[in-house]
Amino acid sequence: MKMSRAVVLGGSVAGLLTARVLSEHFERVVIVERDELSGEWAGDPVADPREREVRRGVPQGRHAHGLLAAGLNVVEELFPGATEELVAAGVPSGDVLGNIRFCTNGFRLRQVPIGMTALSFSRPYLESYLRSKVFALPGVEVRCGVDIIGVDTDVAATRVTGAFVQERGATRLEAVPAELVVDATGRGSRAPRWLADLGYERPREEQLHVDLAYVSRHYAVDPALLDGDIAIIIGPSAAAPRGGAVMLQEAGRAVITLYGILGDHAPLDDAGYRAYARRLPLPYVADIVEASIPLDDPVKFRFPGSVRHRYDEARRFPKGFVVVGDALCSFNPMYGQGMSVAGVEALRLGEALTRGGAEGFDALRFFRDVRPVIDIPWQIATGGDATLPGVDGPRDARSRMVNRYLDRLYAVAAYDEVVSKAFSRVTNLLDPPAALLRPAIAARVLSPVRRTRWNGSDRGANATRNRHQAGRI
Ligand SMILES: Cc1cc2nc3c(=O)[nH]c(=O)nc-3n(C[C@H](O)[C@H](O)[C@H](O)COP(=O)(O)OP(=O)(O)OC[C@H]3O[C@@H](n4cnc5c(N)ncnc54)[C@H](O)[C@@H]3O)c2cc1C
Repeated sequence: MKMSRAVVLGGSVAGLLTARVLSEHFERVVIVERDELSGEWAGDPVADPREREVRRGVPQGRHAHGLLAAGLNVVEELFPGATEELVAAGVPSGDVLGNIRFCTNGFRLRQVPIGMTALSFSRPYLESYLRSKVFALPGVEVRCGVDIIGVDTDVAATRVTGAFVQERGATRLEAVPAELVVDATGRGSRAPRWLADLGYERPREEQLHVDLAYVSRHYAVDPALLDGDIAIIIGPSAAAPRGGAVMLQEAGRAVITLYGILGDHAPLDDAGYRAYARRLPLPYVADIVEASIPLDDPVKFRFPGSVRHRYDEARRFPKGFVVVGDALCSFNPMYGQGMSVAGVEALRLGEALTRGGAEGFDALRFFRDVRPVIDIPWQIATGGDATLPGVDGPRDARSRMVNRYLDRLYAVAAYDEVVSKAFSRVTNLLDPPAALLRPAIAARVLSPVRRTRWNGSDRGANATRNRHQAGRI
């Protein structure tokens, strides 16, 4: 039997996916959001062009935003047929490995089809698609232009009974009652403070400072320049700790993002931007910058570092309240994980509600259930960051050994498709990093290169193999 009402604080990706899941368990799901949101899909030919614009509450939407395979799986599970619909609407699509040129540590991953679809769209486009689906669900109600102020509780503050909101321009607070309140307000979530005000312990916070900046610009890109790929991603290396991405998007344009850490940020002027692109570990992004027409000026977004709130360690937590998405853990965006993790959390929340019903819902158990869902991307992101010069992180013998293994793995993945596929599955959050240590993979990574089967065809991979054979990697 459905419970009566849930309130979702924040109508972005985490809030939308959660609302979709909650609609199966509650008669009414109210999404509360500060920005004005419509349920129109930007992909609809008659849609208001404003649907394609970046909104205030999600300024990161201006920058490259990829959905990992794990995230697209969630979208497909919650909205069956979504991939087909988006492809039919003209969203650039391809194979996750075969058509995404992924480079790491100065090596270009060998590209072979892995049998999983990847889509390349702008963040506002994806969000408008999700909104069009969620807002149309029976029982879903959306309240826009509303500030979330706090949570309401019973007298003993053991149960959250709703949220306090304030309409724009209004002076009075309004209580929106609910049996479950979900905080999906993103990285700026005030839940730790609300809990402290209610007499609960603030969750411990883990952080990894990177002082990252994204600088992005839209371009008219001839897709032929990408040679059949839909996106090019160049990750940073210890020797050149900056990266960049070219992502084809809907409506025939592309976003190009350049990023660097610890103050080494891409300039905003045209010449500086182009020169910065040239200093990336590989030339693919710079080549496209040079050959394409900019459509706007570069825009910067600063990201201080990954932050994880350890609600899973709490001893007490009010009933009727839970935290998801970036409000729970905000990852360094270089790894493209946030939306996918939010999606998997939404599925887990649904499972918890199926198990115990809203009445029996135990947020502490949920936080512990999603611990591995967060542990793995957190390990990938913070472990990757820690290899970059100047970033804090373990420098012990074990991590040095792991890094040496990974250095070798990246080189082998440039020509060995088994290793490349295994690595791609890990970065797409389909397999845990431990999969890269399986004997079948370790043997290929560690064995002398001459014994690795090779049917190389592309020149980059051939050159890598030669350098490897010559003992220079
Ligand atoms: C530069 C950058 C690039 C990124 N690239 C990727 C990527 O490639 N792939 C990926 O998966 N993830 C990426 N991410 C992360 C991704 O944007 C988030 O993980 C994703 O948006 C899910 O976040 P969320 O829904 O929890 O919060 P948000 O998207 O931050 O949304 C929070 C929502 O709550 C609303 N809100 C907040 N406070 C209030 C309030 N007091 N009252 C009313 N409303 C409020 C906001 O308006 C907003 O709509 C990137 C992040 C950044 C910063």
